[in-house]
Amino acid sequence: MIDLHTHSDQSDGSLSPARLVEAAAAAGLEALAIADHDTLAGYDLARGPAGAAGLDLVCAMELGTTLADPPLRHVHLLAYFLAAPPPAGFRAWLGGIHDDRRRRNRELAARLQTLGLDVTLEEAEALGRSVTGRPHFARVLVKKGYARDVPDAFDKYLGNQAAGYVPRREPATGEAIERMLAAGALPVLAHPARLTRERPGILGGLIADLVKLGLGGLEAYHSDHAPEDTARLLGLAQSYGLAVTGGSDFHGDAKPGVQLGTGLNGNLAVPRQVLDRLRDSARQRAVR
Ligand code: AMP
Ligand code: FE
Ligand code: FE
Ligand code: ZN
Repeated sequence: MIDLHTHSDQSDGSLSPARLVEAAAAAGLEALAIADHDTLAGYDLARGPAGAAGLDLVCAMELGTTLADPPLRHVHLLAYFLAAPPPAGFRAWLGGIHDDRRRRNRELAARLQTLGLDVTLEEAEALGRSVTGRPHFARVLVKKGYARDVPDAFDKYLGNQAAGYVPRREPATGEAIERMLAAGALPVLAHPARLTRERPGILGGLIADLVKLGLGGLEAYHSDHAPEDTARLLGLAQSYGLAVTGGSDFHGDAKPGVQLGTGLNGNLAVPRQVLDRLRDSARQRAVR
């Protein structure tokens, strides 16, 4: 059993990287990728524990990007570093994204304060670690009684249409793909069927557009995908010559019900060959 898409508390998961490695070993996983949002910190911190546990840790991350043209605005890309670790230039680029996030968070806290809410940057950062974001502000708002729950906090204060909204500069999807390729990573479209759940008709065109930008793979196996989604994505991957990946998108308690390796009520089984093929083609790319 393998799982190539999980989150630690370095982004929005509930388990520390070390605990995630422990849980993966206990669940009998042979290989695990920690793909934290916008950061390599989960992977970095899991390396030691994974080595000690004899767990095959795959270097990955998940990046939020903005698509220049419709049909969609937000696209999550997974980056898999299969042949070599992320180079310094890529890490520096991520550092710039973190800086802008911090700038946004500072402005967001100030905006919330002008709305009369007693919320500070420090309170959000205490929950957010490497990648503090709006979900952490939402939890602070809930804890302080300004909102019923997280969705309510977004409706009232944090959502794109709400009074407290401060945008951050997300990297463009095309630029992100280029950066990943230049860093030797495989750029993969995350949970494509979830992305197009409301409008399944746009999936084929979206993938065609992303392939032109250099996309290298599709996450065909995912705990939000029905068997027909996976079948359709495997077919699309084949017709475009794209790699295939898969994982649970495990977030621990932050996403109850989704289990490491097996997904939601056992709806996931990522074939071991998926990882073998990824590594084979990475090796071939490295030789060329
Ligand atoms: P940020 O990158 O800090 O701007 O936060 C983006 C994250 O906020 C997304 O990945 C979602 O998880 C979450 N989010 C955005 N809109 C909503 C919403 N309306 N309700 C709940 N969560 C949301
Ligand atoms: Fe997440
Ligand atoms: Fe995602
Ligand atoms: Zn994810």
